[in-house]
Amino acid sequence: MSCPACGHALSTRNAGDVTVDVCDGGCGGIWFDHFELQKVDEQSESAGEALLDVRRDPGVVVDPAERYNCPKCADAVVLMRHFWSVKRDVTIDECPECGGIFLDAGELAGIRSDFPSEDARHAAADAYFKEVVDPLLDEERAKSADELAKAQSFAHAFRFICPSEYIPGKQAGAAF
Ligand SMILES: [Zn+2]
Ligand SMILES: [Zn+2]
Repeated sequence: MSCPACGHALSTRNAGDVTVDVCDGGCGGIWFDHFELQKVDEQSESAGEALLDVRRDPGVVVDPAERYNCPKCADAVVLMRHFWSVKRDVTIDECPECGGIFLDAGELAGIRSDFPSEDARHAAADAYFKEVVDPLLDEERAKSADELAKAQSFAHAFRFICPSEYIPGKQAGAAF
């Protein structure tokens, strides 16, 4: 498998009971198959420490504007780029087909220091929706039916926070 960011050949590395693919000696990125990242994304999950020192060739420069193709899926599926959490300090690239995730060098460290736990991250997202998004949706809803469609696409735009969980109409306390 080649690195989706720089094309370097990925090599495998063990971290606890997961085996991920690292771009060792290339851009320093890491590929996680579906459900692998969640085993090492918290500071308390010490297995993840084994992935913080992937060697990086300083001569390999990754263009931050470039979108990546999934290294695993056959027909060049483009990875979705979205924020890891409502703090919006780290972006991740996730495959809509296989659920794999690519992290650029340094992003795993950022994720591990972002929130102490998965629950805390989701609680922050819920709070953000209640405080910021829901009132805006209520305001939009008060307008005509035409405007409602606009509100829905607006809500849709917020899916980047936790794409699988915050589809309009599905989150708790949904405005629709
Ligand atoms: Zn690479
Ligand atoms: Zn994929």
